[in-house]
Amino acid sequence: MSLKNDIWQLEEELNDLLYRLQELRIKVDSLEVQNARLLERLNDDNIRSEGIEELTKLYEEGYHICPTYFAQQRGGEECLFCQNFLHEHA
Ligand SMILES: [Zn+2]
Repeated sequence: MSLKNDIWQLEEELNDLLYRLQELRIKVDSLEVQNARLLERLNDDNIRSEGIEELTKLYEEGYHICPTYFAQQRGGEECLFCQNFLHEHA
């Protein structure tokens, strides 16, 4: 009898452990998804802000960065298209 009771108790404990394991697995899964999303966003932001930084430098060095005159020399003149472009993407 007592052996049977022991087995039942062990079974219950095992079931409890399995249930907790499942819960943990679900938590880990959702954390992994969240983590992947965050990494994705971080990379996107880095690439975008780096690109804008490069374009700003280019503009300050005297070149157009607007689609219309891209990479042509500004000849010391301010360009509204360029400034608008920077303003929109900053
Ligand atoms: Zn321009």
